[in-house]
Amino acid sequence: MKKGNYIAVKSLSKKVAAAEASQTLALTALAKKMKAEGIDVVSLTAGEPDFPTPAHIKQAAIKAIEDNFTKYTVNAGILELRNAIVEKLKRDNNIHVTASQILVSNGAKHSIFNALQAIINKGDEVIIPAPFWVSYPEMVKLVDGVPVIIKTTEKTDFKAGAAQIKKAVTKKTKALILCSPSNPTGSVYSQEELEQIAEVVKKTGIYVIADEIYEKVIYDGAKHFSLASIPEITDQIITVNGVSKAYSMTGWRIGFLAAHQSIVDAAEKVQSQATSAPNSIAQKAAYAAFAGSDDEVNKMTAEFTKRRDYIYTAITSIPGITSTKPQGAFYLFPNVSGLFGKSYNGTILKTSSDVAQFFIKDAKVVCVPGDGFGAKNNVRFSYACSMQDLEKAATRIKNAVEKLK
Ligand code: PMP
Ligand code: GLU
Repeated sequence: MKKGNYIAVKSLSKKVAAAEASQTLALTALAKKMKAEGIDVVSLTAGEPDFPTPAHIKQAAIKAIEDNFTKYTVNAGILELRNAIVEKLKRDNNIHVTASQILVSNGAKHSIFNALQAIINKGDEVIIPAPFWVSYPEMVKLVDGVPVIIKTTEKTDFKAGAAQIKKAVTKKTKALILCSPSNPTGSVYSQEELEQIAEVVKKTGIYVIADEIYEKVIYDGAKHFSLASIPEITDQIITVNGVSKAYSMTGWRIGFLAAHQSIVDAAEKVQSQATSAPNSIAQKAAYAAFAGSDDEVNKMTAEFTKRRDYIYTAITSIPGITSTKPQGAFYLFPNVSGLFGKSYNGTILKTSSDVAQFFIKDAKVVCVPGDGFGAKNNVRFSYACSMQDLEKAATRIKNAVEKLK
């Protein structure tokens, strides 16, 4: 370009620049890259079940293609699928809605984003208990809301109490995001705890985005309870769920929200302009998932129980590492602060990111550091991978930690 003839290219969005990229996705990509480079790496990154999608679900998708069910569908998702979700919510969650109160989207992640777009005005506060799933605060920022993080610790099994939530509510609070079973901690809120939170929700008029994506991955007889089943506050609850975790369908990209008609209408309007309905074939597959039996889910959860028991015992037996015992989901969220101050090759470990880097470099085990989840003393191990990988990872981490000075 000629000197003096230069036109400065405009800058990009400040809002996007201020948001973080998803660390779970970034580290999953890093592990894949290392594998592609021939490095013998164990990836305990993404929460992605290693099981194949059950056969009857795959067959439904194959049939959809053969039947030429390959066109746009209605924006909210096909009625047959929304009706199956209505039945699922009645059966599993004691939530009573009509098909018009369901919006099917491209994964639960998309459902949460749609929900936030529907309810948030600039400057509205959204309470998020930490540790949180990495995407919540960033999504809130992307819709011009203000994430208000409330801290929880191992002492309360990383659960926020009703009093703590009440204290965080201000005139600007629009919503609370609650995830149970939780990613990344694996904690599960009891019915009693949720009923106490419901009192706060009722008194303050705020909304709750109840992320129930790990509903079926639950252990030791713990019971999942849905906030929206409480009649007095049901209109304030946006229930989010999907097929990714329960039916091992992460790549199919189907999730949904169920809420008061006004919220669904607003979210549907956003979807109508941004993406339209999700993939027609995946919707047929999701119908088969929700309408079919939960035999496969129960088998997977039995397997996850074994893996949780193994990884919990193996990791907490390493000096310097402690952990709560997950009651649901498929993540262990150990506290690694006992390793801070130790060094390897002259580098002192000071943060959970340093520890995660050390695990990558020395043990060739990739996990997600706690910072992105709002917990600087922890790292997250996903145990949605094979038992062989877990054994390899635990042995390698143990050996690596022994080398620390
Ligand atoms: N919520 C939580 C807590 C999650 O861990 C995930 C995992 N991706 C999602 C929502 C979104 O799931 P998906 O978009 O695959 O349905
Ligand atoms: N939810 C999964 C996780 O936390 C998948 C990755 C993502 O969507 O962030 O690992």
